[in-house]
Amino acid sequence: MFHSAAVKLTLWYLALITALSIGTSFALYHVSSNYLEENAKRQASYFSGLLGPQNAREFSNLRFRQLADDRNKLKSNLVIFNLLVLGGGGAASYGLARRTLKPIEDALESQVRFAADASHELRTPLTAIQTENEVALRNAKLSRVEAIKLLRSNLEEVGKLKTLSEGLLSLAHSRQDHKTTVLSARTLVKKAKDRAAKAASLKKINLRTSSVNGDVNVRGNEQKIVDLLVILLDNAIKYSPAGSSIKIDIKKNGKSTEIIVSDKGQGIKRSDLPSIFERFYRADHSRNKQKTTGYGLGLAIAKKIADQHGAAIQVRSAAGKGSTFTVRFPKA
Ligand code: ADP
Repeated sequence: MFHSAAVKLTLWYLALITALSIGTSFALYHVSSNYLEENAKRQASYFSGLLGPQNAREFSNLRFRQLADDRNKLKSNLVIFNLLVLGGGGAASYGLARRTLKPIEDALESQVRFAADASHELRTPLTAIQTENEVALRNAKLSRVEAIKLLRSNLEEVGKLKTLSEGLLSLAHSRQDHKTTVLSARTLVKKAKDRAAKAASLKKINLRTSSVNGDVNVRGNEQKIVDLLVILLDNAIKYSPAGSSIKIDIKKNGKSTEIIVSDKGQGIKRSDLPSIFERFYRADHSRNKQKTTGYGLGLAIAKKIADQHGAAIQVRSAAGKGSTFTVRFPKA
């Protein structure tokens, strides 16, 4: 599809170049040919005074034959020039067309991949619900206890679907028209901690905060930045052993403000580090015998929020030792 679009665009570019080149050539031919004719006439009239009438006529004939030759030469030069422009312009136009279409091609490809990945992820919980219900329906003696168990399991899968669709929605929203204000970093961290508190207490994990003296500000949308911090805290909790502690630091670094989440959990393998911000990417947890609970969307969403705020997210991690995620916000 893109090849034919590129060819079409090439033809448009080429038509434009050719029209310009032929137009210019006509004008050039017209001007030069007039000039040559003027010259020939001037020479003929000048020499007619010096030579006798017979010689003057011969000279004039010769001069006008020369003029016709010059015009033919000019014409063939211009034809060659136009053919060269057509050849060179064709190649350049094709290159230019491919360059113009490349970002569109990439965006479309990424959308197709996004839809394919999303459908693939949606299938797993849907298939689980379908299978469980089909098995239960075939059981003529389904007891009340079994039915309740089935409903609970269905609800769990529906919950997962809801989380997944919410994640997909935040990734799909590309608009950046959110309200931004100057926010206190400490308040943002507190709000994020409150939201992560339940998950932390279930694993008896202690969330500690330390911050610079006096408060520091960041500019942005409160809800989004809190969402970003909750993603980092949830991950830190999810990938840390029960009873461990997680630290949240607020620091000033030059004119920027940093919010740093450090855990002492399982860490991330060096080979996984470059990919963890990609959507649907989950590092392999089989070694840790840990059930994966996420869809690999959290960090992609966090990165998107950071991008929308002109902030950067960096990660430092050592397998088995823990991870540190730093979000650096520009001057508020
Ligand atoms: P998920 O829903 O799988 O947690 P994320 O996008 O939030 O998806 O994270 C992608 C992957 O990065 C996770 O599967 C996990 O392997 C790794 N990861 C993220 N945060 C941490 C962390 N604090 N400690 C260890 N691994 C992490």
